[in-house]
Amino acid sequence: MKLPFAAGKTYGMFGLGKTGNATARALLEGGATVYAWDDSEENAKSLQCELPNCQVIAPEGWPWGELEALVLSPGVPLTHPEPHLVVDLARKYERKIIGDIELLYQAMPDAEYIAITGTNGKSTTTSLIGHILKASGESVDVGGNLGRAVLNFEEADTYVLELSSYQLDLLETTHFQIAMLLNFSPDHLDRHGNMMGYIEAKRNIFSRQILNDAAIVGVDEPYSEALCREMLAEQRQRVIPISTSQALEKGVFVRGGVLHNRLGKEEITADISAIKSLQGEHNWQNAAAAYAACYLHGVEHDDIMSGMKTFPGLAHRMQWLGEVDSVQYVNDSKATNADATEKALKTYDHIHWIIGGVAKEGGIEPLERYFRKIKHAYLIGEAAETFAK
Ligand code: ADP
Repeated sequence: MKLPFAAGKTYGMFGLGKTGNATARALLEGGATVYAWDDSEENAKSLQCELPNCQVIAPEGWPWGELEALVLSPGVPLTHPEPHLVVDLARKYERKIIGDIELLYQAMPDAEYIAITGTNGKSTTTSLIGHILKASGESVDVGGNLGRAVLNFEEADTYVLELSSYQLDLLETTHFQIAMLLNFSPDHLDRHGNMMGYIEAKRNIFSRQILNDAAIVGVDEPYSEALCREMLAEQRQRVIPISTSQALEKGVFVRGGVLHNRLGKEEITADISAIKSLQGEHNWQNAAAAYAACYLHGVEHDDIMSGMKTFPGLAHRMQWLGEVDSVQYVNDSKATNADATEKALKTYDHIHWIIGGVAKEGGIEPLERYFRKIKHAYLIGEAAETFAK
């Protein structure tokens, strides 16, 4: 990604993982002076080797008064602890604090942006939207929290971005034509302190939206439902509710595997229950959200549906592998806690279950009510004995 606006400016870059490296490189190639640091000596050294023009020194030595902005890697929370206190320094010198998404937006302000956040289902929904848009012949690049660092993107008409709440804290001018919040669950509270802080961080995805923009909001739990109601009343942008638990007057919802599009004058429906890569109610929520985004983006209903039907699914997330002698094989190895595992147990019957590894707190006890669906369990790893009991 070319960043011509960076020429002659100075940036501070903190956090030098994959995203930080891509950012430092793009800024340098755009003609900026870049000061960079990471608490991990290994990361700092490897950046210095890769980008010898980069000033790899600790933030206390940066010329803060000259910095255009502090660019934080999305893995670094705004509450970054001592010894470097980069965030405090940026605030003391009244510097902007941004991330790579903001730089992408400044580089490509005329592109269309579709942004996805939520506690669960972000990656699935992001790749599903990317898949549908690609299948319908659009010039599109997909990434963010999922996969590609955005400053490694190609120039494209549309960008589909999975965004964590960390990344949403680091926007300054960016607005998304289509932004969605899938759901909230009381996860990730350690960083934001409490549910309200977490919700505030996530709702940043709708900041700076204007009348023609669309906000897609899942309304299947009380937190996001309340948010949706509030946004509908404010009328700052077009608000589209999505649901898998209720029939909506306006919006997109799925009931009994049938998707209902109530966005236009006439209702349009489609049966999605047979799509192997989108099994389970949680995936229907992802499908409803992806459908709404693609439809608002201008893709025809039939094209959305044919894209959905060829979606391969994401590796290791209830990934359908095939069927042999009427037995379906599913790889759900990304399910590393009871909550994630529940989705698969809910979705299928007569299950042969390969399970084990290292037990998380609480083990598999919360799943007890699904045990009647399990025909046989194959226990592996350290937890085998506990799980057997
Ligand atoms: P994320 O990117 O938000 O972590 P993924 O799409 O990678 O989400 O899915 C991770 C796991 O979360 C899946 O294996 C599934 O168990 C669960 N999941 C997926 N979509 C949803 C959803 N809409 N609601 C609740 N849980 C979901």
